[in-house]
Amino acid sequence: MKRFPISAVAAAALLAGVAAGPAAAQDFGPLQFRTEELAPGVHLLQGAGGNVLACAGGGRLLLVDADYEQMADKLLAATAALESGPVALAVATHWHFDHVGGFGALAAAGAMLAAHESVPGWMASPQHLDVLDHDVPASPAAALPRICVGDTLTLRWGDETIGLRHVAGHTGGDLVVRLHRADVVHAGDLFFNCGYPYIDTAHGGSIDGMIRGLQYVLTLCGPATRVVPGHGPVATPTQMRVYLGILEEYRHIVATEKAGGATLAEIVAARPAASLDERWGEAMFPPEDFIEMIWLSVP
Ligand SMILES: [Zn+2]
Repeated sequence: MKRFPISAVAAAALLAGVAAGPAAAQDFGPLQFRTEELAPGVHLLQGAGGNVLACAGGGRLLLVDADYEQMADKLLAATAALESGPVALAVATHWHFDHVGGFGALAAAGAMLAAHESVPGWMASPQHLDVLDHDVPASPAAALPRICVGDTLTLRWGDETIGLRHVAGHTGGDLVVRLHRADVVHAGDLFFNCGYPYIDTAHGGSIDGMIRGLQYVLTLCGPATRVVPGHGPVATPTQMRVYLGILEEYRHIVATEKAGGATLAEIVAARPAASLDERWGEAMFPPEDFIEMIWLSVP
């Protein structure tokens, strides 16, 4: 039995971090994209869902992620305002609807769609999200990625070299996207730079995968690298390392309690990391959800 009934939009809002309340969550109308230049020709677009990265090259744009379906018109307008050409390719960091919702509209506007090879199958049929107890409807065929990435793919995009690398962390089909020349890495939802993460344990995500994924992202970083998280502000590698430490600490606490025989309810009731919860348990997912996600994915 869940603590509260969750509507599609409320779940979407939770994933987006705009859950000020059900009324606010269901209204995408006032939300606009905020554009920030991270490097010449490379822009961060922040709307309602996951952070979108735009890379210009050769008179075309490559996007990483595409926010919600309800934000698609605004996303197209925000990309047009960059005056760097049409979106020719959109890459998904993972299959969630706050990251690929704009894919149908982008494809209709002429973009090719790419994602890890597990993504089209998940998008093509109804899915269920653990912990949130939320049903996700199938996406239309036109919104499905047709370029499927296995372990790695390297793209030349104008002057930029873009590396895609599969990790199984937030979901089983995450892609970490590295812009070598710009020294920017999009970590997707391996990194929620605003609160505890969601971990999609029904689709191959796990706390240990999250930790390994963040460790991998750190290996790509120099001191000046800008890390784009799935949600929240752009971070330094040092800030991401702090976040990794929180995940490692919480994983250790929950795994130790579980191995000792404690039930999920007992661990939640004990509030074993109350000091962390004060800082990280407010903006996105509450401690009881995070504890459950760890619980589901440790022995
Ligand atoms: Zn996600």
